[in-house]
Amino acid sequence: MGSDLLLPILKRLESEPSLFCAEEVRSCFGPVLTTLESRELLRRAKPATSLVCVDCGGHACQVVFVKNEKTGQRHGYISCPECGVTQIDKEHLKRWQVSTLRFLEGVVQSAGIRGAIDEVTPGLLWRLGKAQWGGHSREVYFVRRCRGNDASKISAELSHRPKTIVLTTTEATARKLRKALNNLVISLDCVASFNGDHSILVDTNRIEGRIAEKGLDGQSRAKRPVKRRASRTADIDALERELIAHIKAARDHAVAARDRGDDGTLLPRPSREQLGRCAGVKPHSVTRCFADSQAHQLRFLWGIAADPEQILCYRS
Ligand SMILES: [Zn+2]
Repeated sequence: MGSDLLLPILKRLESEPSLFCAEEVRSCFGPVLTTLESRELLRRAKPATSLVCVDCGGHACQVVFVKNEKTGQRHGYISCPECGVTQIDKEHLKRWQVSTLRFLEGVVQSAGIRGAIDEVTPGLLWRLGKAQWGGHSREVYFVRRCRGNDASKISAELSHRPKTIVLTTTEATARKLRKALNNLVISLDCVASFNGDHSILVDTNRIEGRIAEKGLDGQSRAKRPVKRRASRTADIDALERELIAHIKAARDHAVAARDRGDDGTLLPRPSREQLGRCAGVKPHSVTRCFADSQAHQLRFLWGIAADPEQILCYRS
């Protein structure tokens, strides 16, 4: 219910000016209008000077006011080319405008964004302040719409701010912005709604979720496994080289002893810890390397190093 009422406001913010006519206000907000007016989120604007003919619904007609000489009252009329002249109800001419500033104040307050709201590009781009999201302090901007050459104006402003989080009205606008910007763009229709008291409620958990999905939360989840995999593979290779060197030495030692007619003793297999030290691999990493699903060769060599017969047969 709450978000159903915020959505028309978000959509209307994409138009300039962001006006609701009387009929729209009635159907979108009903009795909640009084609350939205008291919060100054919706403000009375200049009345409309034209009206769509109520009878045919097909013609937008200029409203003409005529003074009744007897009563002294002014009445509004429209003259539809199909339906003729009709007196209109002045209530139908009332209009309301969304206050972008009041709207943004609500967003900033609920989302925990600190700093002064600054209109960077009139009617288009606002700097909202900074928010502590995903473990970092981040600059937050708001983009109201993205039409015509808006995208180039916005990207000119934000191109030096790749880490700035961009909030916008609806997902449709967010999709356009994502094509033009490198920033993380989040539409408020996905993360904001009206509270029970019709103040704006921003779900910062969802925002932090988006930040984490993008790997911007400092954990860098997208990149880390790749890096970890590369260093694990390098460690396994180093341990294998060290084991092969040991097996060869043990083989040569055993062959020399046999040639001397000496039963001799097998070169003892080094402990994993010793092996790691020689290979330059840290102890905790040695354990992980041996347990690694890709380390078949390492475990195979480890078995050979403990078996005198296999050592003697070892060819590389
Ligand atoms: Zn008509």
